[in-house]
Order: sequence, then C-alpha cells, then structure tokens
Amino acid sequence: MKLNNIQTTDKIGEKVLLKGWVNTIRKMGKIVFVDLRDRSGIVQIVLVPSELDKESEQISKSIKPEYVLEIEGEVQKRGDKQINKELPTGTVEVLAKSVKILSESQTPPFEIDNEDRQANEELRLKYRYLDLRHERMKNNMVKRHQMIKFFRDNLNDQGFIEVQTPILTKSTPEGARDYLVPSRVHQGKFFALPQAPQQYKQLLMVAGIEKYFQIAPCFRDEDARSDRSPGEFYQLDIEMSFIAQDELLNLVEKLFTEMVKEVFPEKKILTSPWPRLTHAEAMGKYKSDKPDLRENKDNKDELAFCWVIDFPLFTDQTKEEEKFVGAGRWAPSHNMFTRPKEEDLKLLDKEPGKVKSYQHDLVLNGFEVGGGALRIYDSKIQEKVFDLIGFDDKQKKQFSHLLEAFKYGVPPHGGIAHGIDRLLAVILGEKSIKEVIAFPLTSDARDPLMGAPAKVSKEQLEELGINLVSRE
Ligand code: ASP
Repeated sequence: MKLNNIQTTDKIGEKVLLKGWVNTIRKMGKIVFVDLRDRSGIVQIVLVPSELDKESEQISKSIKPEYVLEIEGEVQKRGDKQINKELPTGTVEVLAKSVKILSESQTPPFEIDNEDRQANEELRLKYRYLDLRHERMKNNMVKRHQMIKFFRDNLNDQGFIEVQTPILTKSTPEGARDYLVPSRVHQGKFFALPQAPQQYKQLLMVAGIEKYFQIAPCFRDEDARSDRSPGEFYQLDIEMSFIAQDELLNLVEKLFTEMVKEVFPEKKILTSPWPRLTHAEAMGKYKSDKPDLRENKDNKDELAFCWVIDFPLFTDQTKEEEKFVGAGRWAPSHNMFTRPKEEDLKLLDKEPGKVKSYQHDLVLNGFEVGGGALRIYDSKIQEKVFDLIGFDDKQKKQFSHLLEAFKYGVPPHGGIAHGIDRLLAVILGEKSIKEVIAFPLTSDARDPLMGAPAKVSKEQLEELGINLVSRE
C-alpha cells in the first residue's frame, strides 16, 4: 500500500512507496527534483541517476507536470539549508530508487497552482477535475465534508433523525422559480424540484418524528449572485416539535459553536452568547437585517454571529414575488407558514403590517446563513395568512394537504435551515460559494464540463408529449 506523502516526515531512513501527481519539476544538472502531490500534500522526490535502476533513469528524463508516478525510495533528512518551512514535509525528501509512470498527462490548460486561473470561470469549470487538484480547493472539499459530518454526528447524538424527503414533488414556494420535470406517465403534468423540504418537514412533525434534520438538496431557478448559486444548493434543514424559539436558537448556537471549534480551530467566534437583535434594533442601529458585527473586518479568522428575531410577519410584495406567491398587498417576510406572535394576533385583521412573527435569521459577518421560524399550527390562522397574501381558492387548494394534516393532531413546531454552501464560504472567507461546491454551474446556469443543460432527442420529447415551439 502506498504511504501518504505527509507521513514521510516520521519515516526517516525507511523505505517507502509513494504514488501521486507531479506538481512541479526542477532540473539541476543531472539531478531532477519532483514535487509529488497526493491527497495529503506534497513531498520532494530527488532523482539521482546513480541511485536509480537503468529503466527508472530513462523514465526520469521524460517526466512532465501532472504525470502520475509510483516512486520507491528512501526518506532522508534534508540539510539545514535545504529545509522548506512552507511545506509540512519540508524537513525531509525521498531519494528515489525506482520510478514508474502510472499515467501520462497532457499539458493542463492552466497551471494548477496558479491562482490567476480564477479569472477564467469557464475554463475552470470545464476542467473542474484539474481545478479541484489545487490545494485550496481540495481543502475546501475536505472542510465541507468535515462540517457536514459534524452536523450529522452531533444531531444524531441529540436524538435527531435524518429523513430524505422527495426530489420529485410539487411546487414548494420559497419565493423563487421552480425547476420542472415533465411526467411521462401523466402527460401534460409536471413534477417540481423542491425549493426546500418545508412542507414535508412540517408533515414529519405531524407524523410524530419530533426531531428531524436533513442535509437537503434544494433547487431554485434564480439568477446568479455571488452568495447564491443558480440551480441547486444544500441546506442543513432542521425541524422540531414542542420547542420554544429560544430553545431552538440555543440548540443551533451550541451546534455551530462546537462545529467551528472542531472543524475550524483557527477561527475565533467574537461574542458568545451570540447577540440577539430584534429586527427593529438591527434596522435602527445598523440599517440592515444582516448586520456585520465584526470588530476587525481585515481579520479573516474573526466570526461574528448574531440572531435577528421579531421580524414583521409581512413585507410589501415586489413585482417578482407577485408572480410566485400570489398577488395581494402583503408578502410573507420569511414564508407563509411563519407563526405570528400571540400578542399581535388581534392586529391581523386591521393592521397586518404591524404584526410581529416568530421568524429567526442567523447572520454571520454580514451574510444570512440561516432562516426559519416557529410555524402556524392552527388552520384558521393559516387560512387568514393565505388570504392576506392574496391567495385565491385555487392557490389555497394547493396547500389543502397541509391544512388537512393539521386536522389530525398537529404538535406545535418550528425549525430553521442553513445554506451549507454559503455558511462554508463565509467561514472560509471565500469570495463566491462556487469555491466550496465541487461541480457548480456557471453564473448563467450551465455546466461546461458535462454540457448541461442539453438538447434531448425527438423520441424523448415525443414520449413526454412535449412539442417545442420556437420563440421567434
Ligand atoms: N424552508 C425555509 C427556507 O428554505 C427554512 C425554514 O423556514 O426552515 O428558507
């Protein structure tokens, strides 16, 4: 079995077998230095003709960047002057005894190590498998995995269960356009990909699950912004029954604090417990419901979390929203399932604009990294909210299953969802969430690697009963 490059540091004097990619090559006279890269990191290999067998000596002359090599050699300590402090394996090098080429490589379209490649998104995404070889990108994938694993383990220990909710479903409005999938069996009908598992997680509460979470894929057909990705993203989605708002906030605060400590030990959370600002306070003091509370914005290791609560239940509708949530005077500030504060229920009829809700947003360094609410569990209040957001009977009927379910013993419940991609990008200080997604779409919603979206055959369209009409 091969040894990880990083393990060479404590194998001085031992024979080792290494396999990996050629990061860089330097020739000094007849001696060739190769920086060999594997998942664990880089180690320097020294190829001295007199130490190599005949075949390996020949091979050592033909090595090029990104070739995949197998090296057998001996780990030796570097002289004091040769120590490379930048490299975790900088105190050692491997004197090769034999070299095999496992795979050749063409000249890559960009230098893997050169951050200038960032300028060309198209090229980076077309050759994403090369882009991901970069140390920073690989590290981002590892951190993503560790963060998700932490959430899963920790929530499991607290008695939560992860439930997979459907991908082929019906419109689940979260204020964006749906992705539609035509049904072959039921021609003329469409599935919608979920914008969030909102209704399913509420139905799971009616089902008695009590503590649900999911690393949930969500699909929203939105135009790209640097903190949103067109197409799909992942949420840490949580829902609980019989929970007060402050209990839910405490739970999330503890979960995230422990996660940062374990996965990002170099980061420092500025204030604990996290400030809890009412929406009015945030707007009054910071003119924003996503205040950036960092003391030193140049310190990349500073994390300033805060909660924003007591949002108004409604906001004025934008023209865009009218298309998706129904035309009426009011738009839900979070979503249409958010519970109004009990003391404000009397205002629902006459002054809906003054009603406060149990919405809670989690903000990190000026970015929203979570949002949720306690939910309405009284069908009459839910119907009233539907009326206020201007739902007609047909639109209301789309949610009749939820109202129906609430007739069979619905526990009080609430939850939250955190955009995993955005959370990770903010913690890591990445400029775009694409830096933490293995295979993101381009800003105009294409995948240049696979060539998606793509045309389909006439037969496939016929089978689906779809006739394409040209726009001209
Ligand atoms: N479904 C909501 C969202 O995706 C989150 C929640 O209310 O739990 O924003």
